[in-house]
Amino acid sequence: MRFSRLFIPTTKENPSDAVLPSHQFLVRGGFVNQEGAGLYNFMPLGKIVLDKIRTIVKEELDNAGCNEVQLSFVTPMSLWDRSGRAEDMGKEMLRIQDRHQNDFVLSPTNEEAMVEMVKNRVKSYKDLPVNLYQINTKFRDEARPRYGILRGREFLMKDGYSFHASKEDMVREFDLMEQTYKKIFTRLGLDFRVVNADSGAIGGTGSKEFHVLADSGEDTIIVCQDCDYGDNIEIIYFDEEEVFKVNELTYEQLQTTEVTRKCGCGGKLSFKKGIEVGHIFQLGDKYSSALEAHFSDENGKPKPFEMATFGIGVSRLVASVIEQNHDEVGCIWTKSTAPYLVDVIVSNAKKEDELEVGMKIYENLKNAGISTIIDDRNGKKDTYGFKMGDFKLIGFPYAVVVGKQLKDGLVEIIDRKTLEKQEVEIDKVTQTLVELNS
Ligand code: ATP
Ligand code: MG
Repeated sequence: MRFSRLFIPTTKENPSDAVLPSHQFLVRGGFVNQEGAGLYNFMPLGKIVLDKIRTIVKEELDNAGCNEVQLSFVTPMSLWDRSGRAEDMGKEMLRIQDRHQNDFVLSPTNEEAMVEMVKNRVKSYKDLPVNLYQINTKFRDEARPRYGILRGREFLMKDGYSFHASKEDMVREFDLMEQTYKKIFTRLGLDFRVVNADSGAIGGTGSKEFHVLADSGEDTIIVCQDCDYGDNIEIIYFDEEEVFKVNELTYEQLQTTEVTRKCGCGGKLSFKKGIEVGHIFQLGDKYSSALEAHFSDENGKPKPFEMATFGIGVSRLVASVIEQNHDEVGCIWTKSTAPYLVDVIVSNAKKEDELEVGMKIYENLKNAGISTIIDDRNGKKDTYGFKMGDFKLIGFPYAVVVGKQLKDGLVEIIDRKTLEKQEVEIDKVTQTLVELNS
């Protein structure tokens, strides 16, 4: 892709309400723009990143045997009345009326609708298990939409729902999804932890959350330094006020708070801040019973489905990558989430030789399967310094600078994370980047 053809409105202006780096850099880097409180648009670069994350989520779920579907975003109020959840969801659920005064809801989650899809269609234990998911818009009228797309009102979620003939089979799928989520977050290049969690308004008998470790995380988790064990503090302190108080503490303040208890494995426990990017629940028959969704078991007896449900905050992940990976001047995308892996910077695109070599490098990289953008902008303000500024703000993992050293047959490769530079012969660029990318 040519930079000059892509709509990337970078800016020096910080949004006035932006306190977190991801919020500032995603707006300044031209990834997203705010349309209203908790409402964001994804501009071209943001959409590319969102789709990359979405693709990884889809690939791993499909690999694990899940089926993708797409539900209607607007759901009839009657569905929520029947499950008894209309009240539990409270004001977070945005209600609307059509021209005939029928009540509808902008879906905050979709357990009810998914049960309705399966009900009377999956009839026998022989047809089970079934695991259905969608990657679709959700709306929650959050009391405090904040931190940009980390806590929007409208956001993109992967929500999955599985149906089983027995509790054992449901627990098997729950464990499979835990492993699948670990693969997803590992592929995204994230440092994350899995913790035992509270089930909230979704309900059920057990749940686990996946947290991206970041000082700015809204949740406080306790993790073991030696084993996999972790808890969200909300299940340790039963008092909501206490949880609120601990969550208000910064990462630094928490480091002075010793956890006196030891882990079951004998390891040291410590507090971390996390951003919740995934949540999986063992639901049991809460929704299938309420909505009378039955299958017939081996003896021909009707039984409610055993269910589990699995969420991933797809749009929240875009910001989570940046909360974990940034410096003072901009984003540092992981290789699998970067909108492009390489930014070929033509220092002065008015110089024919620079542009020509730049284009050649760009074509070679593309042919080698490396996603590349070429900064071929040639306007008045499009100086080397300006292009470097955009490179650092946007956060492509690597830049190839075509400039002064061209007369010696050399270009410069810059690593965005370390900002280290190396001079490379023009015909070694592709090979070098293929190696760096492997
Ligand atoms: P939180 O505790 O952060 O409010 P939640 O527990 O209400 O989230 P779930 O019902 O578990 O959220 O939804 C599944 C996933 O959707 C969450 O793990 C999170 O990653 C994402 N998510 C939830 N609310 C939002 C939001 N307002 N904006 C962006 N992503 C969200
Ligand atoms: Mg949750």
